[in-house]
Amino acid sequence: MPSVEKAREIILSYIKTLPQEKVSLEKALGRYLAEDIVSPLEIPSTDNSAMDGYAVRLEDVSSPGATLAIASVLPAGYTADHALEKGQAIKIMTGAPIPPGAEAVVKREDTTEGAATVTINKVPKKHENIRFRGEDIRIGTTILHEGDLVGPAQIGVLASMRRLVVPVRQRPLVAVLATGDEILDIDEVPSGGKITSSNSYTMISLVKAAGGIPLYLGIARDTREDLEKKLSAARKADLLLTSGGVSMGDYDLVKTVMAEEGNSLVFWKVDMKPGRPLAFGMIRGIPTLGLPGNPVSTMTAFYQFARPAILKMMGAHSILLPRARARLSVALEHKADRPEFMRGILVRQGDDLFVGPTGPQGSGVLTSMASGNCYIILPQGKTNFSQGEFVECELYHEFS
Ligand code: AMP
Ligand code: MG
Repeated sequence: MPSVEKAREIILSYIKTLPQEKVSLEKALGRYLAEDIVSPLEIPSTDNSAMDGYAVRLEDVSSPGATLAIASVLPAGYTADHALEKGQAIKIMTGAPIPPGAEAVVKREDTTEGAATVTINKVPKKHENIRFRGEDIRIGTTILHEGDLVGPAQIGVLASMRRLVVPVRQRPLVAVLATGDEILDIDEVPSGGKITSSNSYTMISLVKAAGGIPLYLGIARDTREDLEKKLSAARKADLLLTSGGVSMGDYDLVKTVMAEEGNSLVFWKVDMKPGRPLAFGMIRGIPTLGLPGNPVSTMTAFYQFARPAILKMMGAHSILLPRARARLSVALEHKADRPEFMRGILVRQGDDLFVGPTGPQGSGVLTSMASGNCYIILPQGKTNFSQGEFVECELYHEFS
């Protein structure tokens, strides 16, 4: 039985990064760059003022209290029509280009303003409050890198470079199928041992949150015919996710189908808790993760294996959940036969991070995922964890 790391390595060896596509700037949010971005220009494009104030020559203001004639007023968006002469100041607004001859900008707060003159109360340093051409971005430099996630700041940088079109990796189409005779869709009222499919909705949401495009195939009954029929709609998918049908039960057909002619079962079971019965293989040429049916196991196996696969397809360079080290707020015991992904609540208290378990940890207790924000990683081989001890956490939701 492979470890989590080994299983992920095997899965990722079957996953290819998707080709690139060009999207408009506004559509690039949440995507991953397919190329390095090199700046075609300097930003800022001119030396300009960082403050509202007065542009001055240094020799005119070598001691506090110098009074200068206000030669003109320069708003942002305009260039001066004359150079700064001896004994003059130009009233300048933030962002306006520095007039020829000016060596510093004295902010308004450090002056006493008259109608036609201004008194400079503080001696400025050379270049004080001047932002230089190319200070932020130099022409020809690589500003953003292939594999970078495009967030609002990256969008802003691209906009300032006037990139209307951005090369990003395609988003994978991820087919999602729930299985089970007992599973009903949300519009049916369950009775007599039937249950509502939460996994359909968690899987669709997990795919979206990771940046993939979900293709919902519905719920397959536990018959080979229905499973085959539903799976046939996955034809165009880059990845297929199923839930249920991978345990030891008589009707667990997903892994059986993977093991059939034309498909392949690469491995079944991973050394982890929850999520052990994960099956990975190829169905009709599509990499398929047979996620376990228990809702917490479904999500946990998704985070460990499906999310990295989706992110790899999208060209991301960082594909694992973010980690944090936190102190345990309570002592914990753990059956050390396999690594456990205990659901925890991570909080900041002063300068420290603390984490404690959410409560009942059964693999069917989906509220443990909802009330938690992270996994507490309890490694194999260690049974007792004391209060205050540092543990590794993997974050899957916001914390404060
Ligand atoms: P299975 O692996 O098919 O035996 O499923 C394991 C457990 O997960 C059973 O208790 C199922 O009822 C439950 N389960 C399977 N699929 C879903 C689903 N789509 N939504 C909620 N629970 C499910
Ligand atoms: Mg089942």
